[in-house]
Amino acid sequence: MDCLFCKIINKEIPTEFLYEDDKVVAFNDIDPQAPIHFLIVPKEHIESNDDINDENSHIVSHVFQVAKKLAKENGLKSGYRIVNNCKEDGGQSVNHIHFHVLGGRQMLWPPG
Ligand code: C5P
Repeated sequence: MDCLFCKIINKEIPTEFLYEDDKVVAFNDIDPQAPIHFLIVPKEHIESNDDINDENSHIVSHVFQVAKKLAKENGLKSGYRIVNNCKEDGGQSVNHIHFHVLGGRQMLWPPG
């Protein structure tokens, strides 16, 4: 399978991880949209939120717990945003589910 994030997870593409455990990795986004912008990526190849089901949904709560831990470690005391883009209209460009964590500035609403 030719998946960019699988290659990062499998260390075929060298990437500095901010965090790794048996279920997820986290690394800085290559094109940051905020002073702090990292991705939390499940190790299992799940294409998008539309592929979340009863068997794999536990990963989502784990991602949110890791987001909280890494936000704290990165000094995001006054808040942050967690984003999941789902498929084409959602703006998803890498078809391996991932969660953006953005902070260090005031986030705007609505997003573009
Ligand atoms: O939600 P979306 O699929 O658009 O997010 C993919 C993200 O992956 C982008 O923010 C992009 O900058 C990031 N990226 C990365 N490293 C790569 C390729 C993409 O951090 N090698």
